[in-house]
Amino acid sequence: MVGFGWSMQRMREAIMLVFVAIWSSSKAASTWWRSDTDEAWDNCLSWRLGVEANNIRAWRTVPPECSTHVEVYMVRGQYQRDVNLIVDTICAYIDTIDLSSDGLDAWILDVDDTCISNLFYYSGKRYGCEPFDPVGFKAWALSARLFVKLIAKGFKVFLVTGRDEDTLGQATIRNLHAQGFFAYHHDDDDVDDNDLCRSGAYKGQSAIAYKSTVRKQLAEEGFRIWGNVGDQWSDLQGEYTGNRTFKLPNPMYYIP
Ligand SMILES: [Mg+2]
Repeated sequence: MVGFGWSMQRMREAIMLVFVAIWSSSKAASTWWRSDTDEAWDNCLSWRLGVEANNIRAWRTVPPECSTHVEVYMVRGQYQRDVNLIVDTICAYIDTIDLSSDGLDAWILDVDDTCISNLFYYSGKRYGCEPFDPVGFKAWALSARLFVKLIAKGFKVFLVTGRDEDTLGQATIRNLHAQGFFAYHHDDDDVDDNDLCRSGAYKGQSAIAYKSTVRKQLAEEGFRIWGNVGDQWSDLQGEYTGNRTFKLPNPMYYIP
């Protein structure tokens, strides 16, 4: 009986060793083996990098398989961390600038997803997987930390937006005021004016052409554009772009 019991014990140990060996092997394999889900996620990360680096252009919607990836990026902290890092970088640059006393030191801020966040709207559009719906468009707000610093430093802050004056003019002003954006400029003698958005005279122009025109007018009026911040490359390209440009992330939509 002792011999039989010993054999059973050895057999249990042998079975256990085989089980542990198989489990260890699968664990070791998992360090290099990737599931389809992992690979799909990483492909979406590559897509997002391509978008932010402006290598992928003129895209109309987020690829459907990247909906969750973009949602997670936008709402679980990484987007806000990225924005905070950029704002910290901008603030460090601002601290190096000596302003003159002539009142002509200027800064350009885009509005959508630079001053005001549209995340709430796009959460209802599967984070960019559905086309833009102008009827359902609502605004949400980003932190005004950068704006407050610029005003405190003494810059004239010009908000430049391609939003249509007729349909979004009043709502834009209300949203900006509600989020603490006061004392901004659109041209040199109007503060908080009611003509912030794009008038009919500029309808049909690309964002690059329209925003270049606005910046050129400012430059011709003598303003020195120290910085220019936007979430679209079209905010930062063209003429009179400023001494430095800063691109905020936006994987939800593309404006040419
Ligand atoms: Mg924008």
